[in-house]
Amino acid sequence: MASNGRLAGKNAIITGAAGGIGLETSILFTKEGASVIMADISEPALEKALAKVKQLVPSARVETKKCDVSKEAEVKALVDAADAWGGLDIMFNNAGIMHAQDDDAVNTPENVWDLTHNINVKGVWFGCKHAVLALRRNGKKRASIINTASVVALVGAATPQLAYTASKGAVLALTRELAMVHAREGFRFNNLCPAPLNTPLLQDWLGDDQPKRMRREIHFPAGRFGEAVEQAHAVVFLASDESSFVNGHDFAVDGGMTKAYVTPE
Ligand code: NAD
Repeated sequence: MASNGRLAGKNAIITGAAGGIGLETSILFTKEGASVIMADISEPALEKALAKVKQLVPSARVETKKCDVSKEAEVKALVDAADAWGGLDIMFNNAGIMHAQDDDAVNTPENVWDLTHNINVKGVWFGCKHAVLALRRNGKKRASIINTASVVALVGAATPQLAYTASKGAVLALTRELAMVHAREGFRFNNLCPAPLNTPLLQDWLGDDQPKRMRREIHFPAGRFGEAVEQAHAVVFLASDESSFVNGHDFAVDGGMTKAYVTPE
């Protein structure tokens, strides 16, 4: 896809950049002219992701940085790294986990609850906190912070993952409040709410189990899961000045799933 320079001159940080949504967003951001720091907890995965970005966008101004978003000192160091480029303009707090042992109220282990919340909630808080500090330090008058929540923060799922669902609900609420607090500074905060995606993580887990697959697929009006790149396109819009009057929004990119009662046969 040709670039339109929709993010030209902007400095962006993406967490969870080696994964499905983060990598696709890194590719689109660099195509659109942003300078990007790709951050992830996994260095080998980051290396592979960087190679892909450079292959697809040879002109990309892109760096990688290892960062565990649940550690405040690492998030601070990540955000401060963008000062060398003149300070960040876009922060995509996207890193998140869904633990295999996450279950219902009775069966979710407490350590799984804590780990999920440390990464999915505290990680987003740290990202927002250090983004705000950096934006002020660099005298920025406009900025976009996008936090990845999930459709499970909007609708109930009878396939339980209680720690994950609660963590994404917290992301929705904290993003909304930050959007209000910082609106007059020109810092916008929006939520991305992806539906289940056609990523290896989910697809490998579903495998050939047709009933398990249909239990989920039936809820999609379009009759299919989403693609990571479809999330990335929405993030480009939220990151760009095209969305300058979009603030505090829960942007569901779900093929209509959260609006569905009965879906087509
Ligand atoms: P993914 O597993 O492909 O990517 C997540 C990335 O985050 C991985 O590269 C992983 O190494 C990284 N990560 C994990 N813990 C980290 C930490 N502590 N610090 C820094 N990086 C860390 O998954 P994805 O689908 O690209 O997910 C991205 C976001 O989208 C997550 O927040 C996820 O909850 C959310 N989401 C995904 C789906 C889906 O179906 N894939 C649906 C709704 C929401």
